[in-house]
Amino acid sequence: MNKVAVIGAGTMGNGIAHVFAMKGYEVKMIDVSKDALKKAKATIEKNLDRMVVKEKITEQNKKDTLKRLKTSSSIASGVKGADLVVEAATENVDLKLKIFKELDEKCGSNTILATNTSSISITKIAAVTNRPEKVIGMHFMNPVPIMKLVEVIRGYATSDETTELVMALSVELGKVPVEVNDYPGFVANRILMPMINEAIYTLFEGVAGVAEIDTVMKLGMAHPMGPLQLADFIGLDVCLSILRVLHDGMGNPKYAPCPLLVNMVMAGKLGRKSGEGFYAYTPGSKELVVADSFKK
Ligand code: NAD
Repeated sequence: MNKVAVIGAGTMGNGIAHVFAMKGYEVKMIDVSKDALKKAKATIEKNLDRMVVKEKITEQNKKDTLKRLKTSSSIASGVKGADLVVEAATENVDLKLKIFKELDEKCGSNTILATNTSSISITKIAAVTNRPEKVIGMHFMNPVPIMKLVEVIRGYATSDETTELVMALSVELGKVPVEVNDYPGFVANRILMPMINEAIYTLFEGVAGVAEIDTVMKLGMAHPMGPLQLADFIGLDVCLSILRVLHDGMGNPKYAPCPLLVNMVMAGKLGRKSGEGFYAYTPGSKELVVADSFKK
């Protein structure tokens, strides 16, 4: 295996392309947006520069990595010859089903089709292809070049051979893969999202303020980031949509999203990316400031 295509060049796609190219794979980043492709290349270059400064790689490693990275705005031409495709396009079911139908038509019969989805059923995605045994979840964490975990998710029909190959490949990338089965939220989000939701309920019911809740979890549980800050970092819209997948998929009221989260998303307070969530964000400042709406 030496050719990898990455669909989607956003936050996750550029990180995934970065780690494969660094390990010597020929990588094609594919995105419908030319602007996203340009930004992704610039981000990868900046991240590689940082690694050179920290003496983790040499200037030559950086040049070689960039040489192995190509871009395309068409799936049909971009996936030609790919041994593996990792899809990291926008989290939308209809979009992913459309992409996988096209991938199944355009890729060689031996190509493995992986998805980086956070919450969509691998089994559902695999079912629109004629190769469900070669479809698998490869759930990288953000930021991809730094985070060690890859949740490897077996759909209902994923074969042992595909799973073993993707597990071994993840190790080769310097990651720690964990094999899990395909149920709503997999493992990571099934445990993380109820914790974040409970932190929002704790705030909503006036048990404690934003900074207090995060401090308890940081200092008391040794979490590097409190759950409310983490929710802002992930994006409140993303948290809401994953909670809805858990709620719909399990039919259990314990996963119902807190009304405060629903309201914040409706009001456009999406966390760091929109400039405000539980905290207010000022470009260029790393100071953590509680948003005005939550100040006592
Ligand atoms: P993003 O919005 O940053 O990037 C998505 C990219 O997909 C955009 O550049 C968009 O132009 C592109 N795209 C949309 N339709 C396309 C198409 N038809 N063909 C090719 N490209 C297309 O999103 P992201 O945060 O990188 O998330 C990507 C995937 O990774 C999602 O499935 C998400 O659930 C998952 N994920 C995200 C995180 C995270 O922390 N951001 C963590 C783990 C997994």
